[in-house]
Amino acid sequence: MRLVLASANADKAAEIQELLAGALGDELELVPRPDWVGEVDETGEDFLANARLKAEALVAATGMAAVADDSGLEVDALDGAPGVHSARYAGEAATYADNVAKLLAELSGSTQRTARFHTVALVRFPDGREVVAEGRVEGAITHAPRGEGGFGYDPVFVPEGGDGRTFGELSPLEKHAVSARGRAFRALAEALSAR
Ligand code: IMP
Repeated sequence: MRLVLASANADKAAEIQELLAGALGDELELVPRPDWVGEVDETGEDFLANARLKAEALVAATGMAAVADDSGLEVDALDGAPGVHSARYAGEAATYADNVAKLLAELSGSTQRTARFHTVALVRFPDGREVVAEGRVEGAITHAPRGEGGFGYDPVFVPEGGDGRTFGELSPLEKHAVSARGRAFRALAEALSAR
């Protein structure tokens, strides 16, 4: 199966490559996102709508089946924010560090720290058919960043059921085993191989 990747984010592309190749092996050829394809505006109201917008744009541009995902952090004390706005929480040009700083500021003084990462992953075929999968990981937001691994909000997220380390302190393999993206892409790979 040949799939063009809708994400240009190198951190995510590497994770998706590892996760899908692990499950589908030689059956899979992942084609990098061509750099002549323009930015896709993520104007959807939820992760599914945004993943679909990204996949549709790549199908339209390349004529190939496309794989896309959309993820974010849902914080209970913030009524689910930053959610679909996770990438630009602290503004249009926000860095990961800016977003983390804003999150910690919003939660300062809050004892309710529960949160989850939520990912929707999908493959869209040129005939409009789709295979969709979801993943979630529950956890809690720390009071300060810890660890150099991962990306985004990883240094402030401690997954439930772990040993207290943040995602930023886990190895990539340890993170994939429980992460929302890991769960979503393993489910996606299973659904694809069952077709
Ligand atoms: P995207 O829409 O999947 O690209 O994710 C949007 C934003 O959510 C990213 O820019 C990150 O800030 C955050 N995010 C998504 N997945 C993860 C993750 O696995 N760890 C930490 N942050 C993440």
